[in-house]
Amino acid sequence: MTRMKKGRVSLVGAGPGDPGLITVKGLERLKEADVVVFDRLIGTKQFFETKEGCEVIYVGKSASHHILEQDKINELLYNYAVNGNNVVRLKGGDPYVFGRGGEEAEYLVKRDIEVEIVPGITSATAGLAYAGVPVTHREIASSFHVITGHRKNNEPDTTDYSTLARLSGTLIFLMGLSNLKNIQAGLLSNGMKEETPVAVISQATTPKQKTVVSTLKEIAQTMKIQPVPSPALVVVGEVVNLRKNLSFFEKKPLFSKSIVVTRPKEDNCELSKEFYEMGANVIALPMIKIEKTADDNRIKEVLSSFSQFKYVIFMSKNGVRLFFETMFALSYDARIFSGKIICAIGKKTAEVLLNYGLCADIAPLRESSEGLWDILSPLLNKEDNALLVRAKNGRKYLSDELSKKCSLTEIFPYETKKVKAEAEILSGLLKNKQVDAITFTSPSTVTNFLSYISAEELKESDVYLFSIGESTTKAIVDAGLRVYAESEKADVRLLARAVKNAIYEGEWRE
Ligand code: SAH
Repeated sequence: MTRMKKGRVSLVGAGPGDPGLITVKGLERLKEADVVVFDRLIGTKQFFETKEGCEVIYVGKSASHHILEQDKINELLYNYAVNGNNVVRLKGGDPYVFGRGGEEAEYLVKRDIEVEIVPGITSATAGLAYAGVPVTHREIASSFHVITGHRKNNEPDTTDYSTLARLSGTLIFLMGLSNLKNIQAGLLSNGMKEETPVAVISQATTPKQKTVVSTLKEIAQTMKIQPVPSPALVVVGEVVNLRKNLSFFEKKPLFSKSIVVTRPKEDNCELSKEFYEMGANVIALPMIKIEKTADDNRIKEVLSSFSQFKYVIFMSKNGVRLFFETMFALSYDARIFSGKIICAIGKKTAEVLLNYGLCADIAPLRESSEGLWDILSPLLNKEDNALLVRAKNGRKYLSDELSKKCSLTEIFPYETKKVKAEAEILSGLLKNKQVDAITFTSPSTVTNFLSYISAEELKESDVYLFSIGESTTKAIVDAGLRVYAESEKADVRLLARAVKNAIYEGEWRE
């Protein structure tokens, strides 16, 4: 009998919150993992690319409220690894900076489990950087000191403030927000200057980052007036003053704006990424999903008489992708397109065709059924045969026009299905005016959205609506709503730019 091979546990630092601040190795480990165990400090998970079937377990650790006690987490890691799974234990910041990573590693090593550490970017330096505060500076601070501000169950504060007060470097307190008064009193009573600058940086490196600046004398009072949520860093030192010039993250064009992306999961990444780069808080709420239809037999039939078609028209990139998948599975290849006039509804669809080695002959600048029809209609003759590849429940405009003018065959490799959205969560966000903009990328995202959230509710929330193109705009307007701006073309980058420009036009709600 062969013994089962044990898995490995990788303690991976996820960085302080910005999903881009994970290391290359950390991301690789995530992609290979059978199990990922993560906790509250990790920001948005949307860019994590775990493999299919990977189990993702939330053990939500926060200072006072452990969803799973540390012992249980240790056991969990052990059990998965001993049963042959490669486990990633994803930890906020760096796994060995106050994260109890050391304890987890010791527990596993003692039980003969292979452990590796993939260090991460700690909030203790990166959080400051994102707030515009260099942790050291040649003329101002020649050292930095990272200190825990946490006290166990309200035990007396045993921090050696007399030593800390004498240091000339930057002091960074983690878990110090609830203990701020003690930190302030400890440093002041040991002779640190009252006017020493102090910054509290909350939810650093995320779109919710907030930085409050004060002095050692005033900080506790300032925080009473401007409270911020945890996690937060408390930074004491002259380097805080550099923030005036070096703040960059909070100056991003869409910083702290919350934007809903309704695009299907399969292709929402690009749009989400555009907003993420501009500092926005992206709320991904796919309203539709792409589902393959059982149309393979029909595609097979069409392929066997493919020579009859003069025109082959693709209405979306998903249509191209799924058509080719079926075609390859049936042992056909791109040669069957020889001599055909290939049409794509727009640039993206043409790009996907190019990936398969085909250059579209027609791709209208006005990326819509109407735009394509304007070009096609003068070219068609009665005896022409056209093949239209589109979504089963897509718009029928082009089908209707084509069938009036020539002979038409249609195939539907996929349909868009409604996704049950987390309507309650969204409703709550809208009521509390926590959403600034909603982007719609097809008429079906609009109709599905409006089946969860009424047009009235949307109007009351003052949220700005953005549309990717004319048919989407029509769906919004038909529902009695106003479109703030339409993308110049059906391109997510241009849609993102339309949202960005809305800010510069100065009408944005503060
Ligand atoms: N291993 C983590 C620290 C864990 S201790 C790291 O290397 O960053 C938890 C403390 O880290 C919090 O109480 C807070 O002080 C700090 N922290 C972690 N992420 C933070 C963030 N995004 N913004 C501000 N503080 C953060």
